[in-house]
Amino acid sequence: MDIKLIFEISREGRKGHVLPKLDIKQKSINELISTTYLRNSSADLPQVPENEIMRHYVNLSVLNHNVDKSFYPLGSCTMKYNPKINEQLSALSGFTQLHPGQPEETSQGALQLMYELQQSLLEITGFSAITLQPSAGAQGELVGLLLVKKYHESKNRKRTIILVPDSAHGTNPASARLAGFTIRTIPSGLDGTVDLIKLKESLTEDVAGIMLTNPSTLGIFEHQIAEIREMMDSIDALMYMDGANMNALFGIVRPGDMGFDVIHLNLHKSFSTPHGGGGPGSGPVAVNNKLKSFLPVPIVTKTGDNYSLDYSLNETIGKVSGYFGNFALMVRAYVYIRMIGKDGFRKIAEHSIVNANYIKSGLKDTYELGFDSNTMHEFVLSAEKQKMRGAKALDIAKRLLDFGIHPPTVYFPLIVKEAMMIEPTETESKEMLDRFIEVMKEIDTDIDKNLQKILDAPHTTPVGRLDEVGAARNLDINYFLKKS
Ligand SMILES: *Cc1c(COP(=O)(O)O)cnc(C)c1O
Repeated sequence: MDIKLIFEISREGRKGHVLPKLDIKQKSINELISTTYLRNSSADLPQVPENEIMRHYVNLSVLNHNVDKSFYPLGSCTMKYNPKINEQLSALSGFTQLHPGQPEETSQGALQLMYELQQSLLEITGFSAITLQPSAGAQGELVGLLLVKKYHESKNRKRTIILVPDSAHGTNPASARLAGFTIRTIPSGLDGTVDLIKLKESLTEDVAGIMLTNPSTLGIFEHQIAEIREMMDSIDALMYMDGANMNALFGIVRPGDMGFDVIHLNLHKSFSTPHGGGGPGSGPVAVNNKLKSFLPVPIVTKTGDNYSLDYSLNETIGKVSGYFGNFALMVRAYVYIRMIGKDGFRKIAEHSIVNANYIKSGLKDTYELGFDSNTMHEFVLSAEKQKMRGAKALDIAKRLLDFGIHPPTVYFPLIVKEAMMIEPTETESKEMLDRFIEVMKEIDTDIDKNLQKILDAPHTTPVGRLDEVGAARNLDINYFLKKS
């Protein structure tokens, strides 16, 4: 496909609008705006008619794979379908024209939405207080860990260690480090859950808490929560739950009831707001009473029928975001929650679990399984057998693109060799799951019949196999343009 720049399509005098003849006297721009503010020469803007603009951007929009185009089983990322009603309602002018500096009296609707979103998220997670400010899951982790830090400081003790299982999401150790902690890694046992004996050995008086991704990045439910809670209580350490995978637990269990002290959610995963390409995101952090008074300010509160911003938490860790966080994402998540309703949430979790298990059983005779127990919303395959026959996980991932399917997450988690982490989400039909299973089997068969085709894949995408190491090491795009 020959895609030109918008400036290359541009032709002098072409325009995207047709206006009726003026029925008032025409004024020149100099009569309306002082020349001090006018440019000396006109701006270099593309001149393109509306239909060509549409075609240009529609064609660009399908160059990259996206969730509106086809299946996107990218493990840990929850690329579920983003309902368009979320977009329509977040685009209402009452929301988009609102200024965050506006007085509370004229922002009651927005504050009510934030308040009700807070209440819904608290009910879903089983906690007692929440901040909507963090702008990503990872920022939520940082905030949660700063709360943990503050908790120990408020008790006048220095705790420097955060325990992180090796099946945790990669952001967990990074956030703990950023919050000033040292990371102590806890290995997984044979079934992929935390090894309790190793955990016990790691418990020292300087441990501040543990960060559990639950379900873990292996898609496995950490079922030994009560035992872990008991161990943490023995040294008054706290329990952080990475709740980015909350879509697997909706309506089935609540992390607050399970004994966690703090959680972050990813509105841009579990709650269907769009994501990818670096943002925007929203990672609310919910806590129990131990950490309530340290939350970032302001919190949205309600007195009678009046909603207001409460800055009065005197032990607060401060502000963590400009104004109140990514409001437009809150609108989308709120619409989603109201649309799904209470009973719907449990169905989301059940379907996300059934879909993952369906693909797992369809592929387990062809590919090796990372771990076979307790599969929740995602699972990990290993391409070890395929690698021995010539095609690595990366090759299989690239070949999937030729079938119009986004690859799974590969080479993560690190504890599974040739890992392919598959998360179908609840929004896919049985036909789509069947198609994926079929394609994965076809690629496996092709290893023995047509290996080179897999090694050279992808063949049908706008660009072929990229030099990914070069791209990571050499951030100069001109380098690649020159090379191609
Ligand atoms: C995506 C994810 C994160 C990080 O969220 P971001 O919004 O990308 O920062 C953290 N933990 C888990 C388990 C995740 O899946």
